[in-house]
Amino acid sequence: MSRIAIIGAGASGLFLTRKLSEHADCPVYVFERCRSVGTKLRASGGGKANIFNEHIDPEGYNHPEFARQLLRQASPEQLRQEFEQMGLTMIADEEGRVYPSSQFSQTVVDLLWEPERKNCHAILEHEVKRLENRDGKWHIDDFPETFDHVVLASGTPANMIAKNRKNYNGFLDNLGFATHPYEPSLVGFTLADYPKSLAGCRTQVIADLWQGDRLIHREAGEVTFKEDGISGIVILNLSAYYNRLSSKENCFLQLNLIYHDPQFNTEAHLQRFHTLKGVLHPKLNALYEQKPFDVTRLRFAITGTYALDFAQVCHGGIDLQEVNADFSLKRFPGLFATGEILDMDGICGGYNLFFAFASALIVYQTIIPKP
Ligand SMILES: Cc1cc2nc3c(=O)[nH]c(=O)nc-3n(C[C@H](O)[C@H](O)[C@H](O)COP(=O)(O)OP(=O)(O)OC[C@H]3O[C@@H](n4cnc5c(N)ncnc54)[C@H](O)[C@@H]3O)c2cc1C
Repeated sequence: MSRIAIIGAGASGLFLTRKLSEHADCPVYVFERCRSVGTKLRASGGGKANIFNEHIDPEGYNHPEFARQLLRQASPEQLRQEFEQMGLTMIADEEGRVYPSSQFSQTVVDLLWEPERKNCHAILEHEVKRLENRDGKWHIDDFPETFDHVVLASGTPANMIAKNRKNYNGFLDNLGFATHPYEPSLVGFTLADYPKSLAGCRTQVIADLWQGDRLIHREAGEVTFKEDGISGIVILNLSAYYNRLSSKENCFLQLNLIYHDPQFNTEAHLQRFHTLKGVLHPKLNALYEQKPFDVTRLRFAITGTYALDFAQVCHGGIDLQEVNADFSLKRFPGLFATGEILDMDGICGGYNLFFAFASALIVYQTIIPKP
């Protein structure tokens, strides 16, 4: 049985480690730059980990066609069965978002990470800097062992402060892959002429992303006004669609504050009550009283997004043209890539962890084919 190295003990690296280490004769070496494993998996879903979605829509990803190909090989139902076989019990909400029933992300990390298994070698606090293929074997830095298979599962610098993300995935440089620069996704917007008086206001809206006269995406839910911009799950999702635009010119955010009643007549309400204070959040009402605006079309020009530090995922990474359907890299035998290191990002609701786990499952099935 061949020797396998996994670079990165995050969601996809851990899932693959758990699957591979069930084969006693398959030595797995897991290289992890941090002292502990599964940092982002633990942070996911506010500490509850929304591990996948029962109704994954390919259009929720930046590359829907690649997502369709993935779903033909690994469905949400298969992933559920995989987790059930590991002993995880799960619950799903009305939108198909699946969580461990413990509502605690650490449960998932503890199930996936069993470094005491005889064939599992945990190389913690080792940041891989160099990866080379010599004489048909993979060499990692000056590590004494060589490898037949290497899986790149080191994610992206999303949600990291600048000093920690310096030269992230620098070991890719000498391999010469086509890559796309990392940009923050699932992140808040910064807005022009933004009234800071709104900071701290949380309210339900129908939020639209427009570019000129083209509606790019619409979503309903709660938004949070901050000191310098706007956030909340609907905004994070709009940011994913914003990132897919080749030009970001003339983009604006339009909020319908009367989300609950399409028949609501503002004029009639004002004529009767002379105020909207019974309708709007007090901070929005104060803004309205200063200078009235159309409460079904409150518009802000988008100047950009918050920095990578605040992003849940990155847009960008290894170009998907570099990988085969089984996540092997076309130009390098024995090399695979899983999860966020690839130029694949999805909306909120379990799309990104689904991609991390499903890609790891496919790599497992490729390395250890069914008898
Ligand atoms: C706050 C937050 C909340 C989120 N919530 C959700 C959610 O509820 N549902 C969802 O689907 N997605 C969520 N996501 C996104 C999801 O967590 C990621 O998409 C997913 O963890 C990516 O998995 P990965 O295995 O590709 O990378 P990661 O989980 O990021 O793992 C990469 C690992 O590689 C290690 N590493 C990096 N470079 C090296 C190196 N050179 N050498 C050795 N090790 C290295 C890193 O330290 C890390 O442990 C959230 C993300 C954040 C930040």
